[in-house]
Amino acid sequence: MPLLVMKFGGTSVADLTRIKNAAQKVKREVERGYEVIVIVSAMSGKTNELVGWVEETSPLFDAREYDAIVSSGENVTAGLMALTLQEMDVPARSWQGWQVPINTTDTHSSARFTSIERANIDAKFSEGFKVAVVAGFQGLSPEGRITTLGRGGSDYSAALLAEALNATNLSIWTDVVGIFTTDPRITEQARAIKEISFGEAAEMATFGAKILHPATLIPAMRQNIPVFVGSSKEPEKGGTQIKQKVESNPTYRSIALRREQTLVTVKSPAMLHASGFLAQVFGILAKHELSVDLITTSE
Ligand code: ASP
Ligand code: MG
Repeated sequence: MPLLVMKFGGTSVADLTRIKNAAQKVKREVERGYEVIVIVSAMSGKTNELVGWVEETSPLFDAREYDAIVSSGENVTAGLMALTLQEMDVPARSWQGWQVPINTTDTHSSARFTSIERANIDAKFSEGFKVAVVAGFQGLSPEGRITTLGRGGSDYSAALLAEALNATNLSIWTDVVGIFTTDPRITEQARAIKEISFGEAAEMATFGAKILHPATLIPAMRQNIPVFVGSSKEPEKGGTQIKQKVESNPTYRSIALRREQTLVTVKSPAMLHASGFLAQVFGILAKHELSVDLITTSE
């Protein structure tokens, strides 16, 4: 059966009415013959509240406890979404990240994805459910503890599941009507982009557009799964299609603003007519796991 992955962000599941609204969207897809994986974030504001409690209790952050606590907001919405779907006669069951499991490294609070066993998820559908609701943001460390994928990480959870299951489409439902040419909070001239390539969108996410978790597009690109970003409140306004090939080809697609950047200038006579100088500089940065966004060079 064809499968869709639908992700609902915090504002799209902010209260029981919004959850119902989201569930109706899911039900419509089930009626069109799809199986659906629904990924949910915590209700908007919840994760911040949980982080606040942790910081107040123990600013030194035992990162294992931090993850156990801040990941819990997603569990609540996953359960409520499954119950809401059941009330609409859609067979649905919720799963937490560790139950899937989404395997990650043990770098708590910013864990990196390692693997998902497709067979585990297939087994969940074979239990007769049309919809599997998965709590986003969460993973499982090699030592069997809950991890989180970094703030905003449920987009990434959704993309990882879409990739693992070779989904037909990944839709990300948020509170804006797609990706904009620039931050609409900065200028009213920002316009929604109808379609954009994976590469362009990934660059935008990395360079400050807050709309997607920067790693989200990597799994979708690997498996060539089209991604849709739209507003769950105003679905009639359309949204942005992110795909491999786009028809439109403007001179520039968007402008991103990024604050608080660090500029490092390296000057040395050893650079002149030398080879491998920058390789050495980057070797040092790599050793410290520093990623470089932009570089210009001249002799
Ligand atoms: N709830 C988490 C956060 O606020 C993950 C997410 O919403 O994607 O960062
Ligand atoms: Mg988000």
